[in-house]
Amino acid sequence: MNWVALVVCLLILARWAAEVWLSNLNRRHVLAHADAVPAAFRGIVDEPTYKKSVAYTLAKARFGNIEETYGVIVLMVILFSGVLPFAFHFFAHHHGTSAWTMAAFLFTVGFAMSLPGLPLDWYAQFRLEEKFGFNTSTQKTWWLDRVKGLLLAIMLGYPLLVLILKIVEWTGAAWWLWAWGAMLVFQSLMLVLAPVLIMPLFNKFTPLPEGSLRDRLLNLAQRTSFVANSIQVMDGSKRSRHSNAFFTGFGKFRKIVLFDTLISQLSEPELEAVLAHEIGHFKKKHIPKMLVFSAFSSLAGFYVVSVLAKQHWFYGAFGFETTTTIAPVLLLFTLLSGVVMFWFSPLAHWWSRRYEYEADAFAAGVMNEPQSLIGALRKLNEKNLSNLTPHPLYSGFYYSHPTLVEREAALTRQTT
Ligand SMILES: [Zn+2]
Repeated sequence: MNWVALVVCLLILARWAAEVWLSNLNRRHVLAHADAVPAAFRGIVDEPTYKKSVAYTLAKARFGNIEETYGVIVLMVILFSGVLPFAFHFFAHHHGTSAWTMAAFLFTVGFAMSLPGLPLDWYAQFRLEEKFGFNTSTQKTWWLDRVKGLLLAIMLGYPLLVLILKIVEWTGAAWWLWAWGAMLVFQSLMLVLAPVLIMPLFNKFTPLPEGSLRDRLLNLAQRTSFVANSIQVMDGSKRSRHSNAFFTGFGKFRKIVLFDTLISQLSEPELEAVLAHEIGHFKKKHIPKMLVFSAFSSLAGFYVVSVLAKQHWFYGAFGFETTTTIAPVLLLFTLLSGVVMFWFSPLAHWWSRRYEYEADAFAAGVMNEPQSLIGALRKLNEKNLSNLTPHPLYSGFYYSHPTLVEREAALTRQTT
């Protein structure tokens, strides 16, 4: 084994070890608080719900460790068994290294790599989630989702791959800049088209019926001068009892979307507070800031691919010999970027949590009181059986949202 392969192996194992260590740290922390409802939650969560949330957290952690270990084995086999250069030669030998063929190579490998995870995904939905009463999906819905996803990937992902590989042929040394530009255009199109063309393939959207809730939410939108063309209810209950709210689209196409599960779980003032929180994200310009950040990350990604594509020590370590196409390097980059980026995820999550606090503060401000939002957060934590006692290192590393205690504390601080 040469040194590049060795370093990559170590990086993969380091991430695995960190994840398992964090998970066990968290498990011990949860178990240490499992005997009785912690003081901070007495009167908020009852004993049976608390016990159930502990059991759910532990079951997910156990499953997560299995999933992680299995993923590492699959990745190692794919990287070091020689199957990738074999597949590459198969395509190149029969059809050459044109953009169309190489995109087909990448697409086929990507599809094949999604298969080993399928049984675990199935288990998570129909055994784990089912056991805790969250699953509402039928087998048919679940399999149809996979088929639709695959068809979308063929119709959108494949042409995008062809375009990027064509750009490499057309534009020469600065291809990474052009490819990045093409990617940005594609992503912007998706942001506009997805709510109209893609999301309706998976869910039904119906306008929120007229009545007190609708009046209340429209009044909030007006009060915060948030332009939205409609408030829609999504049939999230088709798949799961977990709940959510979000908005999609731009300008006059903007739609506020509430899960039907959310509407059935929360009172009207609580729903208003949740929407106010979402509007807070918008008013504080969190979405464009995230988009700009992700655009710069993908620019860096393309640049790194363009540099690695010239390094024989890199792709040679995985059995690739060619320099006539960037396809193998693009593939290796996709497979490996995660083992490096993993270590930056606490930073990204810390940033995301800061935005959550800002959106909470905005919501409490326009509601003139923090109680509705606090009520909503308590109910959502309870209904989703969230882990109420994560280890601080664990939540610091993984959580995109602050914990219930942290959010309540910030909201209460703000108003006293
Ligand atoms: Zn939020």
